[in-house]
Amino acid sequence: MRNLGLAAVLVSAIATVAFASAQAQTVDRDSALTDLRILSADDMDGRGTGTEGAERARAYITGRFEEIGILPAFEDYEHDFSYERQGASHDAINLVGYIEGTSDSDTVMIVTAHYDHLGHCGGQICNGADDNASGVAAMLAIAADFVANPPEHDVYFAALDAEEVGLQGARALVSDFPVALERLALNVNLDMLGYQEESELPAAGAFHYPFLRERVDRAGAVEGITLIQGYDSPEWGENGDWTYASDHGPFHRAGIPFIYYGVDFHQHYHQPTDEYEVIHYDFFVGATQTVMDAVRLFDSELDAIREDRDAARAERPTKPGMGQ
Ligand SMILES: [Zn+2]
Repeated sequence: MRNLGLAAVLVSAIATVAFASAQAQTVDRDSALTDLRILSADDMDGRGTGTEGAERARAYITGRFEEIGILPAFEDYEHDFSYERQGASHDAINLVGYIEGTSDSDTVMIVTAHYDHLGHCGGQICNGADDNASGVAAMLAIAADFVANPPEHDVYFAALDAEEVGLQGARALVSDFPVALERLALNVNLDMLGYQEESELPAAGAFHYPFLRERVDRAGAVEGITLIQGYDSPEWGENGDWTYASDHGPFHRAGIPFIYYGVDFHQHYHQPTDEYEVIHYDFFVGATQTVMDAVRLFDSELDAIREDRDAARAERPTKPGMGQ
């Protein structure tokens, strides 16, 4: 009887796992918060580009890419590049991988989140929990869900370096993308998903790519999150137009449609107090789930998004900033 009982429990457990896998599409809260906590720990020393702290962050993210089952986009995940700043050349490293889609479409999408931060500021470690350990943790959660429930299209995932010094990682990746840029229909960029006393989650980009507006609305938001489309045009004011505020900027400049999810500036922005302890955990998990649902919808309509992109380009062939 004992053995039969155990067998019944095992069968039941297997059935539960299979059901959970088919359903999935739910953020693993503990795993996501663990990634956020580890990436924003003092041990990472603020993840300044070119520092040992950034190297430790890369080692952690690489391990998570492998564990999740993301395939390397280059010879391995590392995309080395250098950039010029203040009269000197600096080296930096993006981490890029992808998950294979189930369809034979050659259209692809990329989810990006920068892992670098300021290193030290005000004489202290700036841990950058919201900016942007939160975005990297959300990206990893989405990737894990896409491995469990494969997308229709190849979806790339990039932990970008040197964002804080001028969106350098995104610039480098756009100019050295692993497949023809023409095939890239959408960039979903995540930067600051962890701190929000209210419920607002801005989604920017549809001003430039109106065919995304209805799709972002239809993807909607989970309970506790209020999605606000905007922050992407001059009418939002000098600090309210985020068109070039984060890594989606270089994608946009190359004519790639983008949606950027990230909270507004707040009291801990670029301060030593942007630590794991101040993160609004429920908001972060809700925002991550909201983005996961949206990325799932974008994947299911990615070929139509690409067609809409091409139609928009044909209408505005001289759009300033294209192809730079
Ligand atoms: Zn940031």
